[in-house]
Amino acid sequence: MRKKIAMLLVGLMTLTSVTACSTKQDAPADTKEQTTENNKQADIVIIGAGGAGMSAAIQARQNGATNVVVVEKMAQTGGNTVRATGGLNASETKFQAEKGIEDSNELFIEDTMKGGKNLNDKELVTTLVENSNAAVEWVNEIGGDLGVVAMFGGASVERIHRPSDTSAVGPMLVKTFNKQIETLEIPVLLETTAKQIVVDEAGKITGVKISNAEGESTIDCTAVIIATGGFGANLDMVVEYDPSLKGFVGTNHAGATGDGIALGTEIGAATVDLDQIQIHPTVDPETQTLYTEGVRGNGAILVNLEGKRFVNELLTRDVVSAAILEQKDETSYLVFDQAVRESLSAIEKYVSAGLTVEADTIEELAEKINVDAATLKETMTNYASYQAAGEDKEFGREDMAASLTTPKYYAAKCAPGIHHTMGGLKINTNAEVVNTDGNVISGLFAAGEVTGGVHGANRLGGNAVADIVVFGRIAGTNAAKFVVDNGGNTTPTIVVEKTEEVEVTPEVQGNFVDGTYKGTSKGNNGDINVEVTVEGGNLVKVDVLEQHETEGLYDSALAKVVPAMIQKQTTEVDAVTGATNSSNGLMGAVADALKDATK
Ligand code: ADP
Repeated sequence: MRKKIAMLLVGLMTLTSVTACSTKQDAPADTKEQTTENNKQADIVIIGAGGAGMSAAIQARQNGATNVVVVEKMAQTGGNTVRATGGLNASETKFQAEKGIEDSNELFIEDTMKGGKNLNDKELVTTLVENSNAAVEWVNEIGGDLGVVAMFGGASVERIHRPSDTSAVGPMLVKTFNKQIETLEIPVLLETTAKQIVVDEAGKITGVKISNAEGESTIDCTAVIIATGGFGANLDMVVEYDPSLKGFVGTNHAGATGDGIALGTEIGAATVDLDQIQIHPTVDPETQTLYTEGVRGNGAILVNLEGKRFVNELLTRDVVSAAILEQKDETSYLVFDQAVRESLSAIEKYVSAGLTVEADTIEELAEKINVDAATLKETMTNYASYQAAGEDKEFGREDMAASLTTPKYYAAKCAPGIHHTMGGLKINTNAEVVNTDGNVISGLFAAGEVTGGVHGANRLGGNAVADIVVFGRIAGTNAAKFVVDNGGNTTPTIVVEKTEEVEVTPEVQGNFVDGTYKGTSKGNNGDINVEVTVEGGNLVKVDVLEQHETEGLYDSALAKVVPAMIQKQTTEVDAVTGATNSSNGLMGAVADALKDATK
């Protein structure tokens, strides 16, 4: 007997109604009415299209916010995020479980607090950690690739989630976000700088003043998310908060000028830990290229100009940086072998950019970098013996991924550079910005490097990417909710877009009570509601009444999971890779409905 199922594909009608901004410039207005008439309109304005801003935009949109506008002062999206090489720290993930890694949220919190010298806001850290697994899943759901877990400085266990091909995480994330933003039709105004957050006499946010080639104008809005990144490229500001950093090289993109701090504090925002500025230990002094921690994580050691090791290379960034600054010329060399080179694709970029020196023997390498050959040889021989014995007798390094005995040998000069500004706007766990009296500034959210408190006195590698995705999503979710709660024109209108009939034959006889039943379960972006029909004991039809899932991913889940449930007459079928949450949501909703149909 062939049974038919009808799958109602439900979508957000609002997808087609994005009319965010006209390009019309505001005329100089002498009355409020005129200003309003000429202004651009949005529900949520997101300032900054780095990782935090784009995560926020996508999440707000997924949560039904229809009129989200992103403004970005540079000519492209990506900010510092595109430079991120490491990955996303997350605990209790399926990728860790698959590799047999025993981790817990408690341990991740402990490591982060310890790394941050307990200056961190523990509530923010807890939020970061508890949402980290979902962040990995979400990135993968929207087309990203975080499928490999590795070791990184400051982490007790393998916790950093990286692209499967070991390539840098930043370009993968930015590509994924750009694609989603395009799919969701979110307007991004490039080369447009946010100049001021506009508030009315009562202090209520009414818009964002922007400046671009067309001049100055205002986007009226209900909520604002500040996601402008840090101030690592604003050396005056760096030196103002930490005079000891005068003359240091940078690693930041030109847009990391701290604008968000000014935008927030102008309307009363509090700041925290602005003097906590992280230097990264391994930056090429000439090109300011940052050598990812993964180079050390995958086995490289650090040697000074005398050819000697001087530190446990896997300690936190502040400790390793301080150790380098104690060496001759405040410089050191990353030294590794062919096996390490082949283990990390980021290294190929350093090699092809001409940043590394290479040699067939250790002696030849020593000569090329002008260190004593016998000393370097002894350093390498000793290290190989520690690695073989699993005990670093000199510096107590626990994870020694490589023996460094496979020619060729490589060295890259490095010194500490200004990397991450840990301090910033004060937020609470809802990503709401807090004012100097400790109260929330209504309608103002912030996420990412512009905020302070998550990292304390020292950020662990892998925690910035976790921060931008976790708090970006929280900011997007709460800004969308704020708009709805405050009468903005964002309403997550759910309408039936199209009906598709698919013929499916049950392969086994079901054992359910005939009738129609309703059920609910959580999908990736909210509840999935279904109505199921049972005829002749068989589940024969699943109508999806409501869903908020990501287009494309949801469609693939629907097309595979529902027919499989009907064929097998069970809700325990395989999830679609890359659309796990949507798949599980559909199965859960049908299971919930069938609870009432059980004999
Ligand atoms: P995060 O990692 O916190 O997302 P990023 O550095 O990746 O930070 O991104 C922040 C983005 O914000 C950058 O692309 C930067 O150019 C942009 N930005 C900074 N200040 C402004 C501003 N005043 N107006 C618009 N965009 C800004």
